Amino acid sequence: MRRKLAAGNWKMNGTGAALEELDELSRMIGTTALQVVICPPAPLLYRACEAAQDSIIAIGGQDCHSAAAGAHTGDISAAMIADTGAQYVILGHSERRADHHESDADIHAKVKAAWAAELTAILCIGETAEQQQSGTTLEILATQLAGSLPDAVSATNTVIAYEPVWAIGTGKVPSLEQIAETHDFIRDTLITRFGETTGNAVPLLYGGSVKPDNAETIFRAENVDGALVGGASLKASDFAPIIAAL
Ligand code: PGA
Repeated sequence: MRRKLAAGNWKMNGTGAALEELDELSRMIGTTALQVVICPPAPLLYRACEAAQDSIIAIGGQDCHSAAAGAHTGDISAAMIADTGAQYVILGHSERRADHHESDADIHAKVKAAWAAELTAILCIGETAEQQQSGTTLEILATQLAGSLPDAVSATNTVIAYEPVWAIGTGKVPSLEQIAETHDFIRDTLITRFGETTGNAVPLLYGGSVKPDNAETIFRAENVDGALVGGASLKASDFAPIIAAL
């Protein structure tokens, strides 16, 4: 049985007051065998870890630098994220790829840095609208996986999030068939490269406009082990029903 995971990506939203949502979420979900992760903005990491201490919620960062330390004004290292008590870090999100020109090679180096700090990498991949329309989705996913995923993948150090760029924040969601096809393809790619045991153990998340009213349908796809949720993770009252649908 693969572990199931619901991760919330707060992006650049929330100040200290938002931590009340963590308490509320923890009250609403109680105990569950699922893994629940919240990735707040970096300045909230430490306080989020403190707030989530007695709950089942784990905390994650949204990006890290590939270097361990040095002259990189404004950046944060994986070790700094781990030092706050966080256990995960999102890497290669399409907003980072677009806004900060992150290449697969950059992301590959960041995943290694995350592992060195004992963080679990939530690696994001996904095609743009143009790529989807030109029928190259699977090629794009293969290229991104090959370029951004280092060799030492294990069952515990990596989670893959498939997020079609055109579905992020748009309210558009692929059909269940499309979701099943892309996740099956990612699963097969992982098995081919890392073998049956590891390839089958890495959780795959779907991300892009996951809401309380579509989560249950999305989770029907065999290789969808959870979700990476943006907008609907900001309020406990939206995120809790998504978690309950897993
Ligand atoms: P969304 O964002 O749920 O708001 O579409 C998902 C993401 O970017 O991780």
